[in-house]
Amino acid sequence: MPEGDSLHRAAARLQVLVGERVEAESPNPQGEATGVARAVNGRVLESVRAVGKHLLLRFEGGVVLRSHLRMNGHWRVGPRGTEHRGRPWLVLRGARWEAAQWNGPVLALDQRPVGRLGPDLLASETSVEDVVDRLRAVDQARLVGEALLDQRLVAGIGNMWLAETLWHARVFPWRRLDEVSDEALGSALAWARTAMRSAVAGARPSRAVYRRAGRPCRRCGTPIESRGLGDANRTAYWCPHCQETARRATPVRPQVTDSWRG
Ligand SMILES: [Zn+2]
Repeated sequence: MPEGDSLHRAAARLQVLVGERVEAESPNPQGEATGVARAVNGRVLESVRAVGKHLLLRFEGGVVLRSHLRMNGHWRVGPRGTEHRGRPWLVLRGARWEAAQWNGPVLALDQRPVGRLGPDLLASETSVEDVVDRLRAVDQARLVGEALLDQRLVAGIGNMWLAETLWHARVFPWRRLDEVSDEALGSALAWARTAMRSAVAGARPSRAVYRRAGRPCRRCGTPIESRGLGDANRTAYWCPHCQETARRATPVRPQVTDSWRG
């Protein structure tokens, strides 16, 4: 799934079209059916922002296009006239550049504010302390691995960053929030923010646990484990040595779930 940092990179690439009056079309019939191309065609693109896992393209006249890329969606930006593979859902053409979007399961016009999203972890106005406060304001029986993925609490962390963050912070994903100290939450979030920012800047993240089930932990050599986590049954990855020995006395066993997803 595209993580917050990949959306920030897409937003950065799309800046070349900001200020331009764009021609819009939807070569893909499903994209055409969204009505987005008709609504934005001929309008000036005023801004492009990544907010959590959404890309918001604001056009003149208050028209806002919300693009959530889910698993497979992506944007490409190239010189005007670029040949496209397959049929993009949406193509936006400016005088010199064009952007194309593929596989947009959520491509919609949106007048709703993004108030339901929590603060974007990558935004400079977001402080780690504020995010810790938000995490403390919810039911403390919630699992840390689930709460950090809840985009209403903090926007931007996806499955990969969750796994890597909790490994770096030595926090077991099934710990309840009240079993994790403010310091541990804060340092986990600070690590995630720094790592995601360097990924925005182009650094290639080296994975310690994500999709490394069965392979040795880079710290202690114990095989990495993986299992579905939470209602959405996202797959969590953790080192049973580094991330469980630090647990408090309260035994919290992972719920056994019957389906596994990669
Ligand atoms: Zn380990």
